[in-house]
Amino acid sequence: MRDAHIHFTGALAASLAGITPRSVPTDLPSFFDAYQRVKSEIRARFPTPIDMYRQGTRSIAEHASNQGIESLDLIAGFVDDYDSSVRRFAAMLEGSQTNATCSTLLRGCFIRQTSGYANVVDLTAVFRVMRSSAAPLTVDFCGPDRQREGRLREDLDVVGELHRISETRFRHGLPRLSIAMHVGEDITLGPVAGLRSIELAVNSGVNRVAHAHWLWAKPWCEVPPEAKRVRNDLLADLRTGRFRVDVCPSASHLMSNVTGIADDFPIEGVDLGTDNPGILQTTIAAETSLWSEWIVARSRQHEGH
Ligand SMILES: [Zn+2]
Repeated sequence: MRDAHIHFTGALAASLAGITPRSVPTDLPSFFDAYQRVKSEIRARFPTPIDMYRQGTRSIAEHASNQGIESLDLIAGFVDDYDSSVRRFAAMLEGSQTNATCSTLLRGCFIRQTSGYANVVDLTAVFRVMRSSAAPLTVDFCGPDRQREGRLREDLDVVGELHRISETRFRHGLPRLSIAMHVGEDITLGPVAGLRSIELAVNSGVNRVAHAHWLWAKPWCEVPPEAKRVRNDLLADLRTGRFRVDVCPSASHLMSNVTGIADDFPIEGVDLGTDNPGILQTTIAAETSLWSEWIVARSRQHEGH
């Protein structure tokens, strides 16, 4: 079993006893509220942030192991300066070397807030480390404001640079970078802009799109005629394996009112994740069973029952 999409704070909350949100969030504002509260409760349990990343990653891997998870893609943010980012990732790498049977792939995340990248992280320095690190690396982009086209274009310039780095790595015998992006998640964007954001990401060479409700999720996938071509083209690309989709069913259900899977969506292109299990009070087993329920409901409808 694999958890293909799990964020550090939500993962750590699930692995520590006694940390639960007061109530399970049901929209983005209540999610961020619960997230901040859980984060400060977690911080109070560790002497320093570096201890939190080292011991926390160990605790996450062991907890995953106990649930029969063989591998997870653990998403953690780069921070506002290069040294802190490197120290954080080094601590996580150290923490992931445990006796636990679960292997942990670190997915470094550019977290974009309204201020843009410039003062969030020193990109040049991050690129430097990516050019030379022998470890398989996955990079993600997430942030509440990122999916609007103007903002997204700035992100995609960074993706272009990452691709050049990826090719340099490959020429030197290192694995290519895998590039993920949280996109098509925000349902308030509407279908036209939402699908356009996914299209821009895929055409820029993003390998993995996260959440992407406009592609698969009922009722959001029922798009107007002007957006149909974009959606159909993306589904065709998904069928050929040009990109994959991270799906986190509970997060989509709770925060975006998703109720099922589109009839024409190819589920072979999907990887399941828990997103923030300690905040959403879920497990990969629960995600798998919710996803299977939706598949069954879809085939029943097909058969006309
Ligand atoms: Zn996510």
